[in-house]
Amino acid sequence: MECDKCGRDAVMHAGYSGAHLCENHFCASVEKRVRGRIRKDSLVPRDATPEDPEHWVIGLSGGKDSVVLTHILDDTFAKDPRIEMTALTIHEGIEGYRDESVDACVELAEELQMRHELVTYEEEFGVRMDDVAEEDPENMAPCAYCGVFRRDLLENYAEEFGADKMLTGHNLDDEAETALMNVLEGDVEQMAKHFDASLGPFDERNPTEEFVPRAKPLRDIPEKEVALYAHLKDLPAHITECPHASEAFRGEIQELMLDLEDRHPGTRHSIMSGYEEMAGLAADRYRSADDADLNDCERCGSTTARDVCRKCRLLESIRAV
Ligand code: SF4
Ligand code: ZN
Repeated sequence: MECDKCGRDAVMHAGYSGAHLCENHFCASVEKRVRGRIRKDSLVPRDATPEDPEHWVIGLSGGKDSVVLTHILDDTFAKDPRIEMTALTIHEGIEGYRDESVDACVELAEELQMRHELVTYEEEFGVRMDDVAEEDPENMAPCAYCGVFRRDLLENYAEEFGADKMLTGHNLDDEAETALMNVLEGDVEQMAKHFDASLGPFDERNPTEEFVPRAKPLRDIPEKEVALYAHLKDLPAHITECPHASEAFRGEIQELMLDLEDRHPGTRHSIMSGYEEMAGLAADRYRSADDADLNDCERCGSTTARDVCRKCRLLESIRAV
């Protein structure tokens, strides 16, 4: 097959658009879509100046998504004095998995000369995910602990660094899966939270002051294209899967989505455009009720709807083992 634009050998065919693209035109198209999303979501505020720059913390895990995100952000904004960037890597304490991906992060940050910070569950909380998964005092999936700890660290460090936004590498498949899960679970409140915390364009969101807002510039790019981009650009990405990965429902949704996309190309895009609108409406409705109940955790000061936050309660039960 030939590239639609230049006639050279195509490296990919996008079922949803019908496009065939060569290496150069494919990479340019990924970059264009990411930059377009950054614009559409108003990630660069109008009042950012070299004297008072906008600071982004980038969640860099070393997997293909966050590596591609970091690479494109650097390519686009490294010379822009209105934007400051810090890459943040979290080490969960997972043997044979996180060590390699941390190496990929260090390599990339050095190559880009980007400020890079590494924090570990062990130093922060005195726990390692390998032990948590084995002891499992709450009898739940490892990811259920891990997600709470990760969110807490991302949040605290983004705040400590004085970040204006936290950018993560979620791709189109991730977002469409989350959307479909929320719809199938009938969880309208979760849709509202999804919109305000990380999905909606900045000027349409109403984020609580308490949390550093998130953004996902890769959310228009299918997972396969992110992987192909990382490969073609020879980026230092780490690909093995976490041995504790356990989100069973997401796995089912993933299969369903791939199957649907295969038979009806464009399904992921259409799910997202409809969902974003629904989530926005849900956000309008749930917003005012939500903010009133937040206070500071008695133990750690994190924002929580209870007296003691979920992270502190989980740590307590892990330590009691
Ligand atoms: Fe943590 Fe689960 Fe991700 Fe592994 S797959 S790093 S346990 S959230
Ligand atoms: Zn707490």
